[in-house]
Amino acid sequence: MINIILFGPPGSGKGTQAQKLADKFNFLHISTGDLFRAEIGNKTELGQEAMSYISKGLLVPDEITIGMLRKKVEENPDVEGIIFDGFPRNVLQAEALDELLAERDQQISALIALDVDDEEIIGRILERSKTSGRSDDADVDIIKNRINVYKGETAPVFDYYLEDERSHTVHGVGSIEEIFTRLSDLISAL
Ligand code: AMP
Repeated sequence: MINIILFGPPGSGKGTQAQKLADKFNFLHISTGDLFRAEIGNKTELGQEAMSYISKGLLVPDEITIGMLRKKVEENPDVEGIIFDGFPRNVLQAEALDELLAERDQQISALIALDVDDEEIIGRILERSKTSGRSDDADVDIIKNRINVYKGETAPVFDYYLEDERSHTVHGVGSIEEIFTRLSDLISAL
């Protein structure tokens, strides 16, 4: 069982690449952002609560996020591997993920960070807003908030897994296929 965290700032291409990798390696792709958007679409209580944070570019509280993630993992006990996209987003979530996997005698195999600079990210997210329908993609101040949250709360997760050399960085600029090859080569070598 291989468990990968696809890491990187908003707009770094995690969602696109995670889906392609999941298809190639036959892994389950879990995106907490997508799970929240499904809850919002279904107008659930969880979705409404999550939206009040997402719309400001803030993290949804850990209790809600970890509970939702745990449920998704437990619903899929027989998968060959999991690609976590957008989770963990702080060290507490990383600790909760490690615990959840340890209960199943598993662990994170690698964290792979897509390296993309701020200017490129803002451009990409604004471009994405034309088709994503996401209100958090369409406003530069909200995008900047999300980048600040990434730097302050999320980036320490890279160091958390670097301690035992599980964190890797991949250059996140280039064509989708070029970046996909970089990621695939790294995962194949694990
Ligand atoms: P994403 O689709 O990964 O860019 O996530 C969109 C938004 O959902 C984020 O800006 C957060 O508000 C929320 N979100 C997604 N994943 C998490 C998480 N692991 N912890 C807290 N909030 C999250």
